[in-house]
Amino acid sequence: MSSSFSRRRFITTAAVGAVALPLGARLFAGTAHAQELPKLPLDNPQARALNYVEDATAAAGHAKYVAGHNCHNCNFWKGTADGAQGPCLLFPGHHVAGAGWCSAWAAKAG
Ligand code: SF4
Repeated sequence: MSSSFSRRRFITTAAVGAVALPLGARLFAGTAHAQELPKLPLDNPQARALNYVEDATAAAGHAKYVAGHNCHNCNFWKGTADGAQGPCLLFPGHHVAGAGWCSAWAAKAG
C-alpha cells in the first residue's frame, strides 16, 4: 500500500466520520428525547375532552368508537407500528398508548 493511498484512505475515512458522527448523535438524541416523553395522564383536560382511554376496548360504549380502531391505526399516531407507547399529533409532549383510543381517531391517510 503506497503512502499516498494510505493518506487518501485516512482522509476519506475521517471525512465520512466527521459527517456520520454528528448525524448519529442527533438521531440518538432524538430517540432518547422521544423515549423521555411522559405518558398522557388520563386527567389531562384534552384527554378528558376527547374521551381518551389507554385500552380502546374500554371505549366500546362511546358513540364514535368502532371495534378495531385504536391509536396504532390512527392517522395521528406517530409511534412505531407495534409500540406500546408513542407520540400522537394531538397530544404533543406526551406519549399515548398504542392500544389506546380517543374520539378524534381518524383513518390513516393513503
Ligand atoms: Fe390515539 Fe389517534 Fe386519539 Fe391520538 S388522536 S390519542 S393516536 S386515537
